[in-house]
Amino acid sequence: MRRLIDKTLVVASHNAGKIREIRDLIGPLGFEAKSAADLNFVEPDETGTTFEENATIKALASAKASGLPALSDDSGLAVDALGGAPGVYTANWAEREDGSRDFQMAMEKVEEALRDKGAVTPESRTARFVSVLCLAWPDGHVELFRGEVEGYVVWPPRGTSGFGYDPVFQPRGYDTTFGEMSAEEKHGWKPGDPEALSHRARAFKLFAETCLGA
Ligand code: IMP
Repeated sequence: MRRLIDKTLVVASHNAGKIREIRDLIGPLGFEAKSAADLNFVEPDETGTTFEENATIKALASAKASGLPALSDDSGLAVDALGGAPGVYTANWAEREDGSRDFQMAMEKVEEALRDKGAVTPESRTARFVSVLCLAWPDGHVELFRGEVEGYVVWPPRGTSGFGYDPVFQPRGYDTTFGEMSAEEKHGWKPGDPEALSHRARAFKLFAETCLGA
């Protein structure tokens, strides 16, 4: 395990929702975080078949391009009745032919696939969000952290907060979707807290404890 001493790092992402969440989480720890999007880095192809592989590809690309440590997130929604789909292809399900992303369309695809399976009761619509964070250094060293949160796919979508599939994901034990929660509620964590709620905050908590001693 390698400690992160430098207080500047690159958030290896071009996804505005993720960048905002990682900045929220890392801000209280005194970091200055530039994003790969701010630095005009080219987005690498996500050619891996696991969250870990894709997170590593993204973090190493930004670490090598910047000469700074870089933190990436590869994440997705795994729906049990769909055999874990869309999983690592969660972003792809939102892709239109012109290359733009449409998450309303992506949520509808998930809903249609669940209806095709006859999955209408909450217990047949279980799912989890997964986030794998990778911290990479310019010399090629990497550390990986995985967070998961269990819940249900709901329909129709509810709430306008967050990003991506947040309006159709209701974490187990809650009666609101991530789309109906404030950012603070969705993270459910700040430095020193014993628990976190979202997949990303759970992975981040491990990163903070391991690499920052926070
Ligand atoms: P990737 O990690 O860039 O391959 O993309 C992951 C995709 O999963 C994102 O584009 C979102 O659509 C979805 N996703 C990941 N985390 C969240 C989240 O916290 N809320 C909603 N959607 C998410």
